[in-house]
Order: sequence, then structure tokens, then C-alpha cells
Amino acid sequence: MIELHQLTKRYGNKLAVDGLSFQVPQGVVTGFLGPNGAGKSTTMRMILDLDRPTSGRVSIDGKGYGQLSEPLKKIGALLEAKAVHPGRSAYDHLLWLAQSNRIPRSRVDEVLALVGLTPVAKKRAKGFSLGMGQRLGIASALLGDPEILMFDEPVNGLDPEGILWIRNLMKGLASEGRTVFVSSHLMSEMALTADHLVVIGKGRLLADLSMAEFIKQNARSAARIRT
Ligand code: ADP
Ligand code: MG
Repeated sequence: MIELHQLTKRYGNKLAVDGLSFQVPQGVVTGFLGPNGAGKSTTMRMILDLDRPTSGRVSIDGKGYGQLSEPLKKIGALLEAKAVHPGRSAYDHLLWLAQSNRIPRSRVDEVLALVGLTPVAKKRAKGFSLGMGQRLGIASALLGDPEILMFDEPVNGLDPEGILWIRNLMKGLASEGRTVFVSSHLMSEMALTADHLVVIGKGRLLADLSMAEFIKQNARSAARIRT
């Protein structure tokens, strides 16, 4: 479980994340919804220790990311920025990640097959389309077979087929009992994938509830028809 407690990040005089406290429950897809600039990516970077909180704290099963002995086996993440060396093949990229986390080489072939990149595994990443890059990022996230997965705006820029693939993947991962935390600025996307919803605006928590409750609160049960 991911737990945030009064998590705050200030960049100069800009408050990007403002006293966020919530928990990401196990075994379901939790949508992290908010408009662009709301602080979603900053929050996710702090969960991974890529950015230091100004105040407050965040833990993964009670520990900071830096205290996890084999982090890729606990939490896998796809962040917005592409972190693949353009001259390296998909296979080699995954191999160095695996070797630096004591993950067997056979797992590289497994995740390549899982995301459908086996046919292009030996091609350099610089020739990859956005969708293929996204699949490679997801393969890296899955490499350590982690209990927790975190995806930052995974469907951005993808074609309908890619979007559908990611939706089904996330649901499948949650149905295996994994924790899935996924951000989006689109409510329509979250409504199709998330079981639980955390909504933020200007760095602050606006709502933390199940999707069923959210829909109940925001849907009208009657329609007015004028002729
Ligand atoms: P989101 O992912 O929800 O679109 P971000 O977390 O990227 O939002 O950004 C939240 C706010 O923090 C924005 O106003 C953004 O401009 C600002 N911000 C994010 N990263 C930095 C940074 N490295 N330096 C300065 N400001 C930043
Ligand atoms: Mg973002």
C-alpha cells in the first residue's frame, strides 16, 4: 500500500503539491485525476524518491522507496518522461535493468512477450513509435513482477487500440491482486478503468472515494425532456 501523509512540494513560490494525505488501496485500480498542472506527476516522482518533499512523507508498505532492498520487485512505474537510451535495443534496455536488480534474464523475454514487443526486441529504441515506447516503459515496470504498479498518463497520445490494450492490462493486473495507481486528466478515461478515485486540483485533495460513490454523487437519475 502507498500512503501519503501531508505530502507537500514547493518549487520556489509555486506550491505544486499541498498537504496531500491519502492511501492507495491494494488489489484495485486507483485513478489519480486532476487537470494539467494539478501536481500528479510531482506526487508520483515523490513516491519514487525522484523528488524530495518540502514537508510531509510518503511510504510504500511502510518504507521509503530508498529503503526498499529490491525496489523493482516491490513497485514498477511508467513515468511520463522517456528514460530509454535511444541507441539501445528494447532487449538490452530491459537486460541492464534486470541485471541491476538481480532479476533473471528469462524474465526479459517474458515481459517482452507480455507487451507484444518480441518481434522488435533487438531494434534500437530510437526508431520506436510512441505506442512502442509506452509498451517498453510498461515492460520495464513489470520486469520485477511487482505488487504495486504506477502509471503516469499512460494513454496520452496513444491510438484507440493502444488505449484499449492499456485499459485491459491495468484491469488484469488489479484482478491478480496488484495495486495499480494511474494518473489521468480525463474523467472519461478514469470512469472506464478505475475502481477507486483520488481527485486533486492545485495540489490539494478534492475527493477520495470509490468510483461507484463518485458516479452516484455526480449522476442525475432523472432527465428533463422538453418538446
Ligand atoms: P500534473 O502532472 O498534474 O500535470 P505537475 O506535477 O507536472 O502536474 O506540476 C504541478 C505544478 O508544479 C505545475 O504548476 C508545474 O508547472 C510545477 N512544476 C512541476 N515540476 C516543476 C519543476 N521541476 N520546477 C518548477 N515547477 C515545477
Ligand atoms: Mg503530469
